[in-house]
Amino acid sequence: MEGITGVVQPAQLGPEGFEYQRAREWMTGEVSAAIAAIRDSGPADIVVCDSHGNGQSLLIDKLPEDVQVVRGFPRPLEMMQGVDQSFAAAMFIGYHGSEWTPGAVRGHTISSARLLGVKLNGVEVSEGIYNAALAGQFGVPIAFISGDRLAVQQLQKAVPAAEGAIVKEPFGYHSAMTVTPARGQALIRDGVKRAMMKLGSLQPYRITQPIDLEVGFKFTLDAERAAFVPGLARSDAHNVKGSFRDMVEIAKLLQVLTSLEAP
Ligand SMILES: [Zn+2]
Repeated sequence: MEGITGVVQPAQLGPEGFEYQRAREWMTGEVSAAIAAIRDSGPADIVVCDSHGNGQSLLIDKLPEDVQVVRGFPRPLEMMQGVDQSFAAAMFIGYHGSEWTPGAVRGHTISSARLLGVKLNGVEVSEGIYNAALAGQFGVPIAFISGDRLAVQQLQKAVPAAEGAIVKEPFGYHSAMTVTPARGQALIRDGVKRAMMKLGSLQPYRITQPIDLEVGFKFTLDAERAAFVPGLARSDAHNVKGSFRDMVEIAKLLQVLTSLEAP
């Protein structure tokens, strides 16, 4: 949701925010624009994975009747729940930059409250790259991403074939120059149309397995408890690391580690 047109602050990001109900409409409009562009290219089975906050931000009664929606947390594959080997591609709507991307709107990785960043095989990743690797484990390529300029460019560095729609020029963590929702939806429609023309030639983003995971925690007490998990060891006060079989193991583990009671 942090990468949806118009979204810059917590005011848009959760049920307490004065503009959250409007932001849900903008988000639903962008997802609907992507669905319409996919349908323009031909018939498709579509699963929409509602993955911000409580996993219940999309206004599902405004979506077409022939899509399925994943809602709520926790779920084993987190933001990629619903994916399997049968999918031709995944598309990311409303993405943001990683924790270590200076200037990104709401830049964080998986949990802005708890995590200090995630490294896979020694490389700091955004949620886009993390989810691309998770989809890649099922042989599913990433065809499209929308978000602020930094989020889109960060994914395209790892996955150059992914089409992008930039809906915001970030000024910082809580400010951006944004297009209007109508323009954002038009940019997404155009980008998804370009992406649909590449289907069949896209390659999944696969990372070497087993995967070296390093995860940083904002609270040292979280790192201390994480290091109690077999296979994880402290690398310094804020960081733990370990080696895991694949992205599915990592997706499950990080959900548990980010849902411990706050210290
Ligand atoms: Zn996020």
